[in-house]
Amino acid sequence: MALKSKVLIVGGTGYLGKRLVKASLAQGHETYVLHRKEIGVDIEKVQMLLSFKQQGAHLVAGSFNDHQSLVNAVKLVDVVVCAISGVHIRSHQILLQLKLVDAIKEAGNVKRFLPSEFGTDPARMENAMEPGRVTFDEKMVVRRAIEEAGIPFTYVSANCFAGYFLGGLCQPGFILPSREHVCLHGDGNQKAIYVDEDDIATYSIKTIDDPRTLNKTVYIRPAKNILSQREVVEIWEKLIGKELLKSSISEQEFLAKIKEQDYAEQVGLTHYYHVCYEGCLANFEIGDGAEEASALYPQVHYTTVEDYMKRYL
Ligand code: NDP
Repeated sequence: MALKSKVLIVGGTGYLGKRLVKASLAQGHETYVLHRKEIGVDIEKVQMLLSFKQQGAHLVAGSFNDHQSLVNAVKLVDVVVCAISGVHIRSHQILLQLKLVDAIKEAGNVKRFLPSEFGTDPARMENAMEPGRVTFDEKMVVRRAIEEAGIPFTYVSANCFAGYFLGGLCQPGFILPSREHVCLHGDGNQKAIYVDEDDIATYSIKTIDDPRTLNKTVYIRPAKNILSQREVVEIWEKLIGKELLKSSISEQEFLAKIKEQDYAEQVGLTHYYHVCYEGCLANFEIGDGAEEASALYPQVHYTTVEDYMKRYL
């Protein structure tokens, strides 16, 4: 059997990144995690990095302000997976990846790069609204740099992180489900796709040594998790044994509300608009030149929406 690739995770202390580290180790890859000196005395992050080391990962010192350190880190591995931040209400550093692309180009040894994507496919969002389109535009800038440098890639379109969307019954600004009330987007019937973040990490790491995913986009679309907001609410109602009081916010009201928010909130809300009113995640067929993760890896037992939501009981 071919040897498994050595993997460098960048952004390994992040919300998704820590799961990528765990998945890489679980799937038997020699795993390196970038330890940026800028994290300084952030005790939580340092402790997390040490726990990765105890689980068998190697910590590699490096900095986005020190090109050679990135080149040296990249030279240690075959595959680089980046999960740098990209949510405006937390932090967004998508374009910093251009420095990583430069390092990968110079190192010349990388067989696969997975940039920090893991959401809506930015290539399908050329008509996205301001200001949220910044996320897609920046991810496309990174894609172009990767492709111009001739770096082999896989782009993972992971759809909705379950923690954000299921946790809040698809309502922006909520990450715990109410037992009393829910506000539906319009009729609440637009389909979206919800994926457990640990499953996103598992599928992403599965792709890295797979020739079927080379230079392709992989969509994560677990069949049972393609549901409307109304269906998500019904699952929650079944779990708690109670019907929620329902109100609804029309498309026009939602759009008007966006304008009242600060910039970071507006970015997030426009993303919710595309997902919840336009159905941008589920309203297209996966065409030629792309793959679907649960079809590629049927052996992965993904978490269903119902199972995911049991944690909130
Ligand atoms: P986090 O906000 O958790 O941040 C991830 C990592 O970014 C940090 O741990 C840190 O890495 C790194 N980072 C932050 N600032 C800097 C900096 N100045 N220089 C270098 N590194 C920095 O990220 P998420 O896990 O929330 O997001 C990862 C990806 O997932 C993004 O592309 C995002 O758009 C996407 N996403 C998709 C969602 C969906 O529903 N589909 C929801 C949320 C995110 P370090 O370890 O080095 O400190």
